[in-house]
Amino acid sequence: MRQLMYNQNFSTIIDEPISYWKTIEEVPITILEDIEKQIGNQILQDEKTKAFYCPNCTNPLDDHLFCTNCKQSYKSSTSYQPICLVNIEKIKEFKKSYDYLTFQVVDQEVLLYTFQVNVQYSNKLWMPYQNPRRLMDIQIKKVYHVLKNGLEILNDHSFLSYLSLEEEYDFTYFETNFYLYLDNLEELKKTTLYQYSFLWLQKDYFRRNGACLRGITYLPITFKTYEYLVKMKLYKLANSGADQITYSKNFEKTFDLSKNYYPFMKEYDLDYDEYEALQIYPTTNYELLQYIKRYQPTFYRIRLFVKPEQVLKYLKSQNLSEEYTYEYGDYLDVCLNLGFDLQDKKILFPSNFLEEHDKRFKEVSLINDKDLDKKIKAIAKTLKKYTYEDEKYMIIPASSLNSLVKESREQRNCVRIYAENIANQVCQIFFLRDKKWPNKSLVTIEVRKKKVVQARTKFNNLPSEELNMVLEKWEQTVLTQN
Ligand SMILES: [Zn+2]
Repeated sequence: MRQLMYNQNFSTIIDEPISYWKTIEEVPITILEDIEKQIGNQILQDEKTKAFYCPNCTNPLDDHLFCTNCKQSYKSSTSYQPICLVNIEKIKEFKKSYDYLTFQVVDQEVLLYTFQVNVQYSNKLWMPYQNPRRLMDIQIKKVYHVLKNGLEILNDHSFLSYLSLEEEYDFTYFETNFYLYLDNLEELKKTTLYQYSFLWLQKDYFRRNGACLRGITYLPITFKTYEYLVKMKLYKLANSGADQITYSKNFEKTFDLSKNYYPFMKEYDLDYDEYEALQIYPTTNYELLQYIKRYQPTFYRIRLFVKPEQVLKYLKSQNLSEEYTYEYGDYLDVCLNLGFDLQDKKILFPSNFLEEHDKRFKEVSLINDKDLDKKIKAIAKTLKKYTYEDEKYMIIPASSLNSLVKESREQRNCVRIYAENIANQVCQIFFLRDKKWPNKSLVTIEVRKKKVVQARTKFNNLPSEELNMVLEKWEQTVLTQN
């Protein structure tokens, strides 16, 4: 622990300021060497010719990635070869900044440094006919004191709380991946803040993917699931979704997935977006999963009606590209809105998608037509005098646009197109219903010039003899008499 400091009267404890590296000269040489290795050893590759060049002197490398000029091999010991794509003819215009992170443990307190590494090529210092040489400039950017609730920025005396970042959804900088110094991660074991994080088990992950501030501060010290995910070797999930997943008892309960998917999740090291896609539609087909991820909001909405591979196959059969998945999702939304039965294959996969899509969208715009609704309501008032009832049945006018839509949904008929006819006084629509179930449609009646011109039950069938008698009586005693 750090020593406590008292004020002059020895009455109040003042925290001793943490001593931290203020200049680059104070930074241990091992860290600077790692920066050189991680950032300096990215071999240059020409965008056009794809040939490799020495990152130090820009001479062409031989087949073994050896620079005969610098007498250095750039062959990576791991299978991962860091490459920097450049236009080698314009290498003197090359300028790039990299961010690099380092932990430091001081008296059990955790400090985190961000370094800015600027790289450029210049032959200013050498003879002009020589190859440009790499210049690297390293500066300490920020020094964070990592605390339970946020980051105290020591070199500009400010404080960033995790809560404020979360509330403002401003993790942009915090979610950018940077290089991370890996050789001192074990020191975090000794601190109470990180002892359960198991951050040090992820060296390979950080080496390949880099590390983001959020993933190495906020997530591991705030969420217990982080440790579980790291131990499960689900590294991307730990670094992207430890705050979204809550550990509960076992794999199935935690992920809401069968444990059969675990080997797949581990093999591809799924990130949180991929995991969400997997929840929408469990599959071990990685390509398919990527497709679901690209259209996640769409598949989330339509997941109960259709499988992603059916959508792909259908769009292909329609000669439409994958991007039409959006339109397809919208189409199903509209069909649902119009009360169509999505179990029906003809609705789900119409023979001409674009035509059907446009047709349904016209219908839905009709339903949302406020003026039309007003007209139908006004007309319904004048039709009230034709309301009828006997012991068993009742006949009422269509009272609103919505009542017409509801009727058509239940009857599966085309009464929707009558809406405009009603508004234009071409015809009137009435509903015949059983008094015991006044909200359930039974017969839809079209009236013109005080005569019943059409009466239809479900699926456009004709009404029964009993119902026809009621209609006849209504026509004779009410319709024609008023
Ligand atoms: Zn060289």
